[in-house]
Amino acid sequence: MTIPGDELLFLPLGGSGEIGMNVNLFGCQGKWIMVDLGMTFADPSLPGVELVLPDLTFIERNRDRLLGVVLTHGHEDHLGAVPYLAGDLKVPVYATPFTAGLLREKLKSDGFDDAIKVKTVSMGATFELGPFKIRYVHLAHSIPEGNALVIETPYGRLFHTGDWKLDDEPLMGKPSTPEQLTAIGDSGVLALVGDSTNVFNREASGSEGEVRRAMLEVVKGRKGRVLVTTFASNAARVDTIGHVANETGRQLCVVGRSLDRIIRVAKASGYLKHLPPLIDPDEAMSLPPQSVLFVATGCQGEARAALARIAAKEHNEIRLSKGDLVIFSSKQIPGNELAVGVLHNALVAQGVEVITEKARTCTSPATPAGPNWRPCTGGSARRSPCRSMARCAT
Ligand SMILES: [Zn+2]
Repeated sequence: MTIPGDELLFLPLGGSGEIGMNVNLFGCQGKWIMVDLGMTFADPSLPGVELVLPDLTFIERNRDRLLGVVLTHGHEDHLGAVPYLAGDLKVPVYATPFTAGLLREKLKSDGFDDAIKVKTVSMGATFELGPFKIRYVHLAHSIPEGNALVIETPYGRLFHTGDWKLDDEPLMGKPSTPEQLTAIGDSGVLALVGDSTNVFNREASGSEGEVRRAMLEVVKGRKGRVLVTTFASNAARVDTIGHVANETGRQLCVVGRSLDRIIRVAKASGYLKHLPPLIDPDEAMSLPPQSVLFVATGCQGEARAALARIAAKEHNEIRLSKGDLVIFSSKQIPGNELAVGVLHNALVAQGVEVITEKARTCTSPATPAGPNWRPCTGGSARRSPCRSMARCAT
């Protein structure tokens, strides 16, 4: 099976039936293409291990038949193994502008920028690799330029989804409309490869527009400092936080190197045009508390991220105190409960109010509007515990 014959083959080397480490091979007329080359972060069952990379032995033995690596988007579980493994494959890596920019920065910082050729493909463009004709199809996702791929082959048309969601108000980029997607289906699809996290979740994922309105409602009128933590790669959320800063008369301070990188690449790719000017942490701490909005890395309890250091009072510049607010604007990834709970408790012990996707840790009767923000289930922590792992502040 190492040489595809008169047949069409799909061979996932990672990511199928598991979260992370997405690597998919398509084979046709003696050639292979690879879709995504991701990695995953190790869990406590692998003590001492930080990253887990896919096993590419099969395709490394057949690399003369591999035509290229095609990336759907810029999340680590889709491109994180490129710096470590793509050099040995000796084929170009194809990506849309934002993903390509992100990858080039990663390769440069890891010292691999000469070893791996990154080719930028315009959004919505079509290109050919041997018997495969590949078209990028923009879908909404929590990072700019989430893409599905329409792959034309002599045997039929394939639709490889990548990660996706449907968002009526995406606020960043122009995802395909239902009509455009329906047209692809109507044109005839031989096989659909669904490669999206949460694909079995029956609930709608909500839109960025809803988040923007709800966050504005929460921050409006607050007297203390507000810090929002989210996934660094979620540039649309960073845009939302910048919008909230503008609307509430707060200055924006970004804390965390991965956020700096995303903002730099997003701006270079034409996004985040309305982000307010950024101030540094020293200046932010010199302002009245109600005049500053922080956005920080560390929403999953990562020990070395900015929020962990702030919560532990180990950050060189930033201190939060009673009356301040931390908003976790992100879903908690299963497995991170303990680390995130430790963060919540450290913040609440300092009198900082915490709002998560599920609950807020105050007993204030004020309920922020919007579907993503809800009060404690019992209304008062003294009567009923929060659903989140954090203790209530009062
Ligand atoms: Zn993704």
